[in-house]
Amino acid sequence: MDCIFCKIVKGELPSTKILENDKVLVFQNINPEAPVHILIIPKKHIESMNDIQDEDLLLIGEMHKAAKEAAAKLGIADSGYRLINNCGPDGEQTVFHLHYHLMGGRRLGALTG
Ligand code: 5GP
Ligand code: ZN
Repeated sequence: MDCIFCKIVKGELPSTKILENDKVLVFQNINPEAPVHILIIPKKHIESMNDIQDEDLLLIGEMHKAAKEAAAKLGIADSGYRLINNCGPDGEQTVFHLHYHLMGGRRLGALTG
């Protein structure tokens, strides 16, 4: 399967890791749009938010836990941050391996769409 995030999980592509456990990987976005812009992914390949199954619900919780732990590790837990999932064409999803963007380190402004 030709998935760049699966390749990052397997170590076939480089990444700057923030946190890792057996289920979840958190790494720097290659093209950051904020002082902190990291990606939270499940190690399991799930294409998008639309493909989450009941059996994945614990894993989704693990992603949220890793997100808040990464925010704390990067020192932005108290200043705050934003967690975003882009799904499908209207969501501007470009990598079809489920991920959350965690952005912070500055005031992000109101959501504009
Ligand atoms: P999407 O638009 O699918 O929600 O976001 C995909 C994100 O993945 C983009 O913000 C992009 O900068 C990031 N990205 C794409 N390819 C790579 C890569 O090879 N390494 C890293 N670290 N980030 C990537
Ligand atoms: Zn994948």
